[in-house]
Amino acid sequence: MKKVLTIAGSDSSGGAGIQADLKTFSAHGVFGMSVITAVTAQNTQGVFAVQDISKDIIAKQIEVIFEDIDVDAVKIGMVSQIDTINTIAEELKKYNAKNIVLDPVMISKSGFDLLRPEAKDALIKNLLPIATIITPNIHEARAITGMEIKNINDMEMAAKAIFEMGPKNVLVKGGHLEEDATDVLFDGYEINHFKSHRINTKNTHGTGCTLSSAIASNLALGYSIFEAVERAKEYITVAIEHSLSIGKGVGPTNHFY
Ligand code: PLP
Repeated sequence: MKKVLTIAGSDSSGGAGIQADLKTFSAHGVFGMSVITAVTAQNTQGVFAVQDISKDIIAKQIEVIFEDIDVDAVKIGMVSQIDTINTIAEELKKYNAKNIVLDPVMISKSGFDLLRPEAKDALIKNLLPIATIITPNIHEARAITGMEIKNINDMEMAAKAIFEMGPKNVLVKGGHLEEDATDVLFDGYEINHFKSHRINTKNTHGTGCTLSSAIASNLALGYSIFEAVERAKEYITVAIEHSLSIGKGVGPTNHFY
């Protein structure tokens, strides 16, 4: 069985973060493992508190996994603070980790800073260069590049600008634009578009986590970057189509439909 590791934050309400990642791994038939970077007190209405995990226990979690198990892919999600970022980068380099999918999580849909603003530069400097693929949404692509992004053309320019910062592939996600949800992939040579129709639902909690975990699962299963993104896009579209009205706020996607 292929083995996939998520390095991310815990969402107590189970729709995003580590919980979404592990559900996505199971739905793909890969064996999921987790290194927890932060614990959030969260429900469908928002993030109410965060406790960061110390860098020593983050390093130890990564070390004991890699010393013992062959890891086929790694997904990185919420990394919270500078120490956490630098520790993850060091450890993954030490073990020559492959198939690293970086979801540069910054702000929750409810507006909470999941990445401390002062940690953005460390993420760009130390995690982008080791990523096999980075999956920013429009807001994150804007924060990383400082560019205005209003349409597909801008997304393509942003993907190319982010590529120059070191990741091997860049997927800029268009879900936050008004039009159809088109994602733009740049692999250093060509641009590809992945389109899906807009689904009319408020229940989209954890979509970014789920998509990046699906990409990591597909890379572990041996698919190319193009195929991994294509399959992950199909998976997240169905997961949103069948999303769940759980709680009073923004409900989660349905990982097992
Ligand atoms: N909580 C955690 C721990 C996350 O990692 C993320 C996203 O990556 C979120 C919350 C945000 O979820 P959303 O913005 O989809 O509500």
